[in-house]
Amino acid sequence: MKFGGSSVGDAAAMRQVARIARDAIVEWDDVIVVTSAMGRSPNPRDQVKVTDTLLNAARAAANGDDETFKRARRELADKHHAAIEAGISIPDERRAIGDEIDRFLDGFEMLCASVRVLGEATPRALDAIAGLGERMAARVLAGVIRSEGVLAEAVDATEVVVTNTQYQSAAPLMEPTRLKLRERLLPMLQAGKVPVVTGYVGATEGGVPTTLGRGGSDYSASIVADALEASEVRNFSDVDGVLTTDPRVAPDAHTIKILSATEMSEMAFFGAQVLHPLTILPLVEKRIPLRVKNTFNPTHPGTLIVYDNAPADQPIKSVSVIREVAVVTVTGRGMMGVAGIAARTFTAVARSGTSVYMFAQASAEQNICLVIPRAAIERVRPELTSEFQYEIRKGDIDAISVLDDAAIITAVGAGIAETPGVSGRVFSALGEQGINIIAIAQGSSECGISLVVKGSAANDAVRATHRLIA
Ligand code: ADP
Ligand code: ASP
Ligand code: MG
Repeated sequence: MKFGGSSVGDAAAMRQVARIARDAIVEWDDVIVVTSAMGRSPNPRDQVKVTDTLLNAARAAANGDDETFKRARRELADKHHAAIEAGISIPDERRAIGDEIDRFLDGFEMLCASVRVLGEATPRALDAIAGLGERMAARVLAGVIRSEGVLAEAVDATEVVVTNTQYQSAAPLMEPTRLKLRERLLPMLQAGKVPVVTGYVGATEGGVPTTLGRGGSDYSASIVADALEASEVRNFSDVDGVLTTDPRVAPDAHTIKILSATEMSEMAFFGAQVLHPLTILPLVEKRIPLRVKNTFNPTHPGTLIVYDNAPADQPIKSVSVIREVAVVTVTGRGMMGVAGIAARTFTAVARSGTSVYMFAQASAEQNICLVIPRAAIERVRPELTSEFQYEIRKGDIDAISVLDDAAIITAVGAGIAETPGVSGRVFSALGEQGINIIAIAQGSSECGISLVVKGSAANDAVRATHRLIA
């Protein structure tokens, strides 16, 4: 069972998690909890999201600011100590876990002070700092679960999830990870304990802390499930499962009962925040069912992800959005018939370390357009300009232009590819709202259709497309 940031946002939420864990033990023999860092709390006076706070403090320190990380330390101390005070009933435990939190926060301050002196936060340093949130949350949550009368013990994934050295989006090395997870967790389960494992973090073979990328606790839970050959994964968030779209954009969004793994992956890849895009990957081979549920409404069945086709009662099942993307267009009459321009464009973009969300080519081959994260423009533009300097000088390529405020809207559903007229309906829906479509692509797995619109039109485009779902 994985619990996201808002599920552990304060003591009340953690107690709710503890009750869900206690009930699960009755239903299942062995239960493993994977936790995120403490996130938003329903209390309006506590808006601290721990991972954001850690990363902002580290970045501010790199810019020479030594106030932000000191303030962050106080906020993080307040948030964790408040949860300990209100959530853990045994005085000795309160003291011991409180001391552990203070040691982590000492480490945080030391790391930030070093970053400030160096004037730079390397991806490696950012990972050492960003992962502290989960490591603190696991200790507090294990304490709260014990206070609820259930044996539980915090486990640092830095000791059991082995990754490569791609800091900030590390990939697990599954062989050693499986071994270590089994070695560590099986004896705990045999002793009747609930392991409370940190999500998001891992460590290299040399023991240097890494993270799996933002939102990565979902992925952690699947990695643990694969290693332990779990019967089921339950992913708990603050909404009733996977919804037809982001409820913050369209309040009439509703729960999708069953989704295929392909549909879920497509949605997650194209921006549905509810699951990390790689969550499904470790589950596919053993076909481990995944349920997405609401911590605050645990009797709601939520969404079940299955490995066969899901019922396709309508072609479009969901609409998601990726914001803050840029459209890079390579244009030129001289491109017509020139073999390899597309290949060179991709190679140049790959050299900059950027992954491309979407790609479209005009029929007369006079332009190629790529949709990338906005933050990657500074890396991509110089690579493309240098790749095509010869063609640009000759006038074969006119320009490399960038539209830097766009969004990708994706409609997902396995029926989209085989149902005639779906794209037409989407285009009309946007047309009726006066929304201009900048580029179009069929999603990677043929179960989605993606459109690029101006950033300012994103929410209207989501709502217009969402109205096509019955
Ligand atoms: P957690 O911290 O539990 O991992 P996240 O904030 O990462 O939670 O993901 C849950 C949030 O994702 C929801 O609160 C919702 O606002 C947002 N969201 C976006 N798209 C969807 C969707 N299609 N279905 C459900 N939630 C979505
Ligand atoms: N705490 C991490 C984040 O905020 C990982 C997660 O919550 O899944 O990105
Ligand atoms: Mg999440």
